[in-house]
Amino acid sequence: MSGTAYPDEVPASQALLERARAVIPGGVNSPVRAFGSVGGTPRFMASGSGPWLVDADGRRYVDLVCSWGPMILGHAHPDVLRAVTEAAADGFSFGTPTAREVALAEEIVRRVGPVESVRLVNSGTEATMSAIRLARAFTGRSVVVKFAGCYHGHVDALLASAGSGVATFALPDSPGVPPSSAGETIVLPYNDLDAVEAAFAERGANIAAVITEAAPGNMGIVPPAPGFTAGLRRITARHGALLVSDEVMTGFRVSAAGWLGLEGVPQEGPPDLFTFGKVMGGGFPAAAFGGRADVMAMLAPSGPVYQAGTLSGNPVASAAGLATLQACTPQVYARLDEVADTLTAAVADSFGRHGIPHRIQRVGSMFSVFLREGEVRDYDDARDQDTERFGRFFHAMLRRGVHLPPSCYEAWFVSASHDEEAVAHVVEAVEGAAAEIA
Ligand SMILES: *Cc1c(COP(=O)(O)O)cnc(C)c1O
Repeated sequence: MSGTAYPDEVPASQALLERARAVIPGGVNSPVRAFGSVGGTPRFMASGSGPWLVDADGRRYVDLVCSWGPMILGHAHPDVLRAVTEAAADGFSFGTPTAREVALAEEIVRRVGPVESVRLVNSGTEATMSAIRLARAFTGRSVVVKFAGCYHGHVDALLASAGSGVATFALPDSPGVPPSSAGETIVLPYNDLDAVEAAFAERGANIAAVITEAAPGNMGIVPPAPGFTAGLRRITARHGALLVSDEVMTGFRVSAAGWLGLEGVPQEGPPDLFTFGKVMGGGFPAAAFGGRADVMAMLAPSGPVYQAGTLSGNPVASAAGLATLQACTPQVYARLDEVADTLTAAVADSFGRHGIPHRIQRVGSMFSVFLREGEVRDYDDARDQDTERFGRFFHAMLRRGVHLPPSCYEAWFVSASHDEEAVAHVVEAVEGAAAEIA
């Protein structure tokens, strides 16, 4: 479709959106899908194969959302499809333990050294919610520290990102979160160890845990500054609080062992607990939290901390996750990096030549393009960008058959199935779109 462009009108998606709005709030089951920040009609997808999506109007897009991370091998990967089909033929769910969930748990424990024991759940939200409950039980304390701009799912206590600078007790980000719940949360600016020290100096005896995205991807990509992770480990250990590393996005994506695999275990020691999701479910609802055996042993039925799930460890989801992880070979990670190299170079080149101020930040194969200049170290920096221009860029890409995440605060996700044709298609679209928005 070089030289041509899809029209903005998408009659089939528009009709589906109207039907959806009649029965689903806003017509979507997760808010970002509604194109709220970029405008226009969300594309209802009919199918996906490798790096390509086909929407209800029959248009093809190179997918740079990859289901927000899980589709690391591309859509409908043959190995995963076979594993899912075989598992489904054996029955969908039993409410009993099965071999498949054991194999998935073993694979996670094998890959991530400090994770000695793991509990499977259905979403990243459940994983962080449960990790926080466990940390509170283990320490007998209630306050949780999180960082502005880090997303940990829609857990009440973690749905607060207000207030940067000083250690303020957070106001909830959403109506329906009681102040009592958000009031147990301290929100600090990311990459600011002094703020963490100050919060612990004041409230250390009440702090159960610090939770952080291992390498944040939910305010755009904002890597931890050198020494930040180690500093969190040092401070939490000194005060008897747990460190929870949220690898729901980075886990098994930026390396075989996630961010931990890239950064290495700090000299001060690894985090106590980890949360996983996205890639480990292979596109199905599966997530996990795990870590130190003595902490995990507090979970029911071996300990008193209640946590459960009708579909947890579901055999079809476990089969999809295991097949995905097993297919994530060193060659796969090398290909992801190569695709990210080419795409980041193309963006830098086109945006540079067309005089569009930008900043690209990257963690492994995850990267984001901020429409601003200068390093982005925290949420305040990330918010200081040209969001209106991003909306125009997003639609210019969509017209050229490339589906980006519909928000300037999201990473671009690639898959190992992004072959030369798909990559070349994106590179050409970036040049055309950059010219259009310059
Ligand atoms: C996506 C995400 C979550 C939430 O996972 P869900 O499966 O959407 O509930 C939590 N933490 C991080 C870092 C994420 O990227």
